[in-house]
Amino acid sequence: MRKESRWIRWIKWIVIVTVLFVLGFCIGWFAKPSNTQNHTDSSHYLKDFLEEMKADKIREHLRKFTQLPHLAGTEQNLKYAEQIMKEWQMFGIDSVEMVPYDVLLSYPNESQPNYISIVDHLGNEVFNTSLAEPVPQGYEDISNIVPPYSAFSAKGQPEGDLVYVNYGRTEDFSQLQREMGINVTGKIVIVRYGKIFRGNKVKNAVLAGAKGIIMFSDPADYWADGIQPYPDGWNLPGRGVQRGNVLNLNGAGDPLTPGYPAKEYTYRFSPEDGVGLPKIPVHPIGFHDAFRLLKYEFFFFHFKHLVIMTNLLEHCFHFHFHLEKVRMNIHTNNQVTRIYNVIGKIRGAQEPDRYVILGGHRDAWVFGGIDPMSGAAVVHETVRSAGRLLSTGWRPRRTIIFASWDAEEFGLLGSTEWAEDNARLLQERAVAYINADSAIEGMYTLRVDCTPSLHTLVYDITKQIPSPEEGEEGVSLYKSWHKRDNWTNDRDAPRISKLGSGSDFEAYFIRLGIASGRARYTKNTKTERYSSYPVYHSVYETFEIVEKFYDPSFKRLQAVAQVRGALIFLLADSQLLPLDVNEYADSLRKYAQSIAQLAQKNLVEMETYKVSFDSLFSAVENFTVAARDFHERLQTLNKLRIMNDQLMYLERAFIDPLGLPGRPFYRHVIFAPSSHNKYAGESFPGIYDALFDIQNSADPAKAWEEVKRQISIAAFTVHAAAMTLTPPA
Ligand code: GLU
Ligand code: ASP
Ligand code: CA
Ligand code: ZN
Ligand code: ZN
Repeated sequence: MRKESRWIRWIKWIVIVTVLFVLGFCIGWFAKPSNTQNHTDSSHYLKDFLEEMKADKIREHLRKFTQLPHLAGTEQNLKYAEQIMKEWQMFGIDSVEMVPYDVLLSYPNESQPNYISIVDHLGNEVFNTSLAEPVPQGYEDISNIVPPYSAFSAKGQPEGDLVYVNYGRTEDFSQLQREMGINVTGKIVIVRYGKIFRGNKVKNAVLAGAKGIIMFSDPADYWADGIQPYPDGWNLPGRGVQRGNVLNLNGAGDPLTPGYPAKEYTYRFSPEDGVGLPKIPVHPIGFHDAFRLLKYEFFFFHFKHLVIMTNLLEHCFHFHFHLEKVRMNIHTNNQVTRIYNVIGKIRGAQEPDRYVILGGHRDAWVFGGIDPMSGAAVVHETVRSAGRLLSTGWRPRRTIIFASWDAEEFGLLGSTEWAEDNARLLQERAVAYINADSAIEGMYTLRVDCTPSLHTLVYDITKQIPSPEEGEEGVSLYKSWHKRDNWTNDRDAPRISKLGSGSDFEAYFIRLGIASGRARYTKNTKTERYSSYPVYHSVYETFEIVEKFYDPSFKRLQAVAQVRGALIFLLADSQLLPLDVNEYADSLRKYAQSIAQLAQKNLVEMETYKVSFDSLFSAVENFTVAARDFHERLQTLNKLRIMNDQLMYLERAFIDPLGLPGRPFYRHVIFAPSSHNKYAGESFPGIYDALFDIQNSADPAKAWEEVKRQISIAAFTVHAAAMTLTPPA
């Protein structure tokens, strides 16, 4: 054998030393968990993943999935499910399956249309509201456009006087009753859409004794100044109508199978005992028909010296003195129907037993141009990009689950049934849930609602994503967002809101206690966030409304795709979970202060009944210390899986298995949908509801006992959550 020359020996040494050095560096790096600023060792993969999501592809997906109406329970929605399943398989993720459930849906009776009439003193119908919206150009030949209706309305033909109750909010009904002395018992109420979830309006009407409720879109809320009605602009035409379910499910999912997945063998309640079904007829109309109905109703009010405040009533009345009756004709049927979720998975390489979920609904009232397909197109592009990355050799640390939910519009049914089906796995293994409903509702800036532990991640991510706005080349999404929506009083950062409900994250966050978030592009609304966009749930939600008005370049949808995508990427692939428990501590302190302040309005009673928030503040203090210590230990300690589990289970620690009073499926002690508006989030909801309207309580002593009980539950829960952050032994 030839002897190696000195040079070769030298080179060998250099190579060996270099390899050892690199290895040592890597081991050191891997062993020391990175903090949230530095979440991943695979940041070039993140970059590739985000750059692969293309605006034009999102446009294509959106066009493809908005050609035909695809209401939950219809054949077309199953066809889109099959197509999505096939394409996800082609994109190359590990598995895709179709998961059916049989749930209660609601459809108009095809042979007996729903409408409202003005009837004269002989009972003749002298005016009828329209049976359908005028179909937009190019869609004239399309069948299966469901006429506007309120899903799950009771059947019936109530007849009576109309009473206008503004937005139908709790405060609108109490103002009418307490201040104006107007009793709506046995009346038909008419309320305008907006401000709160429509199901809450219906609940309020039932509680007030109304025998029917009509909802209309007021131009004050669904018409932007200087904008044309669709198709020339994005305003709601006079004959456009918002569809929507009017349930009060409080997180139950399918009304007939609360708590359990709606499979074939599952026991079902009888329809009369279904959860959350309204007991009175409900029907929606557009403002064209509302003008006619309110014209007659106006003097009912004028009589009572009511100052009418809506723009509509101010500007649009011809004053006729007629006081005639209306009749509602409602024949909608409830029907157990098969629905289909599509579930796709990417197996995690190191922690396959940890799940990160990206889910959004597929079912639409008609075409779903905005709601939900702008979101579904974004998910589709995310799955495509993830598939591409897999083919280059990447595999996430944790398992990623993609979901195309069905029957969201009928009460979050597909997502809730799957959560019920998989509750045992999810409570042990789910790290986070990111929702993907409509990706756009306005043209202004980003909107994020999420659990506090995700704040820091959202800020980090948006700093790495470019602004989609024209003239902001080189500006980050963070900066663009910050400029447009500063958190002001609270802190100098872009505003992030609490999660409410009204979309599919509900079961994951509020029932199961999985860290959750949502992100979309939104309008410029500093105050009012729940009325949605003008054509919401109408036939005018087409592909074209997005392409012509909301996002012609599709860059806003691309930016939303990147935000949602980066969230799941980093949650799934970072060694150390990018959850910030210090942010939770800060939020808890803020919420505790604000609920205590609310109670201070009743200083005398607080004294009398010895009500104190000390226990809650002291629990928040414990939590703050535990959170700070936890993050300090993260810098030095090397027990990655243990600490990741503590991070994952922190959200779970806020779940009270007994649920909130009267709402067994709302189990998160820190957050719940407001009892007065499902869309809004309420913090410390147990205490909030106990304090609500306590001045008018019939039995103050008892009411204040309940406040004390709720404070103690909150204090215990926060304290218990703090304990989960301390060293295990
Ligand atoms: N997102 C649908 C809506 O707002 C359903 C909401 C729900 O049932 O919670 O109409
Ligand atoms: N667009 C609603 C939301 O704000 C949900 C829906 O109607 O599907 O999430
Ligand atoms: Ca169920
Ligand atoms: Zn919707
Ligand atoms: Zn939606």
